[in-house]
Amino acid sequence: MPETGHQHQGVNDSTPDLHEPASVTVVGASLAGVRGAEAIRRDGYRGPIKLIGDETHLPYDRPPLSKQVLAGQWEPEKAQLIDAARVAELGLTFEVGVATALDVEGRRIEVDGRWCDYDALMISTGARPRRLQEGQQLEGVHVVRTLDDCLALRRDLDVVPGRVVVVGAGFIGAEVAATCRGLGRDVTIVEVAEVPLARVLGDQIGAVCAAIHEENGTELICGVGVSSLSGNLRVEEVQLDDGRTIEAAIVVVGIGVIPNTEWLEGSALEIDNGVVCDATCLAGPNVVAAGDVARWYNDRFDQVMRVEHWDNAVEQGAHAARRLLQGAGAPNFSPIPWFWSDQYDRKIQLAGRPSPDDRIDVVTGSFEERRFAAVYSNDGALTGIFGMNRPRHVMQYRGLINEGASLDDALSLAGESS
Ligand code: FAD
Ligand code: NAP
Repeated sequence: MPETGHQHQGVNDSTPDLHEPASVTVVGASLAGVRGAEAIRRDGYRGPIKLIGDETHLPYDRPPLSKQVLAGQWEPEKAQLIDAARVAELGLTFEVGVATALDVEGRRIEVDGRWCDYDALMISTGARPRRLQEGQQLEGVHVVRTLDDCLALRRDLDVVPGRVVVVGAGFIGAEVAATCRGLGRDVTIVEVAEVPLARVLGDQIGAVCAAIHEENGTELICGVGVSSLSGNLRVEEVQLDDGRTIEAAIVVVGIGVIPNTEWLEGSALEIDNGVVCDATCLAGPNVVAAGDVARWYNDRFDQVMRVEHWDNAVEQGAHAARRLLQGAGAPNFSPIPWFWSDQYDRKIQLAGRPSPDDRIDVVTGSFEERRFAAVYSNDGALTGIFGMNRPRHVMQYRGLINEGASLDDALSLAGESS
């Protein structure tokens, strides 16, 4: 059930007006952090901007890690978010380090055991993969979150023959399975839900996504979880909750993520499945959060949400960083969430915030063609648009959602364009 969030609206009400900070520190030097830093610099902020991150690579984009980089179609450099020349041009400072504690009152963070002062802070530490309790440490078992994860999986795919078993048919599972099939591998996906992605897309459209796997030769086992993995040093078998076992040469675990908030325990910030922010992305005095780690009140939907997709990290990163330069009265962050996913030769897109049991009307194409757009609605109000190989329609109907249009408006538009 979505949470409504009136209680989260008021953090900024009790916060005094902020003055332009002497410096901005960003913890988590990836998509949200980099886009935030770029946005305030472009806006004319002239103070020092320091990004602290625990990865040694220059920031890179994650979507290609389950697609082009994993497939070997792109070299990793192509996924870079920012190059050294642009870093210099924008006057950003990158520091490799692990943040381990925050003292909001003293405006200090602990990085690699050393306390350092900050003036204004953006938290964009993202999320990390959940792991299975048993067998995750075996050789041949992978997660895909970082560039190093992706390259390790790619190396295994190059040299280890045999079946790839993917645990979880969420976004990681679906995309990695599609890429592995593209490399000619035998692939089995095991998914605990009866219908993959049903929690996000509902049963009907989830079933279409499931069919795409099977039509591309991927075996899909639904309605049963993976309990453990076993083998002698290297993974050999996957055990399912119903007692079945599957032979596996390589296993990829994609069973969701955990927001990286442990370093904030004991700080004055509210942590509850993410860093809790108000409607403007403010998490505490002079502290904002953005991206996968942030949970904020989206007034457009009257819901507290944490969104784990690329577009949100980009937009919220920019919004939250700007928030550090604004006082009370700063605008709310009220986006229509949006994402895409590439699986086999299909591009899936969803805009909006539908509930899985919302009504679904196909506005162009058909499920059978595997090329369609469908709107979600609840009580006559448009809540989402889903497209499979229909990017133009997704953008068009997303505009309607933005205007607060009804299902009737969407169906009229469909009638006009047919
Ligand atoms: P992250 O990208 O997780 O970055 C957080 C950074 O903070 C990381 O570098 C992390 O190491 C660092 N960090 C964490 N803790 C600390 C600490 N204590 N100290 C210092 N640094 C720390 N979305 C889509 O919409 N479409 C897609 O097709 C798509 N494909 C994806 C494919 C893959 C393989 C993955 C993993 C994600 C994909 N996503 C996609 C989701 C999208 O990439 C994420 O939503 C986005 O990366 C979130 O950005 P972020 O900056 O909030 O967090
Ligand atoms: P996810 O989308 O949350 O999906 C995880 C899936 O694994 C769920 O369907 C879950 O079912 C299932 N599962 C959980 N435990 C299981 C078990 N023991 N055995 C079998 N199945 C199990 O997470 P993800 O696919 O791991 O993706 C990780 C993150 O990367 C997410 O933040 C995602 O948004 C992001 N990402 C996004 C994209 C994109 O937007 N295109 C692409 C790749 C990655 P239940 O829900 O029933 O628990």
